[in-house]
Amino acid sequence: MYNRTQNDNGSYNTRCLDCFITVASCVESEQELDGVEAHHICPEKVLAELLVHEKAMEQHIAHH
Ligand SMILES: [Zn+2]
Repeated sequence: MYNRTQNDNGSYNTRCLDCFITVASCVESEQELDGVEAHHICPEKVLAELLVHEKAMEQHIAHH
């Protein structure tokens, strides 16, 4: 999820709503926004996936 805002000069900013990092600012077009958003590696999501993975590992160990 991204929060897009437009500057007075017509350029765009986009901010990730998961980690609240400004992914891009002063981007010329919405097409470019799609690109930068697609390339954002969200630390929040990476962390969430890591926790899920860790939990699975713990359960695996507990069964032995
Ligand atoms: Zn993010």
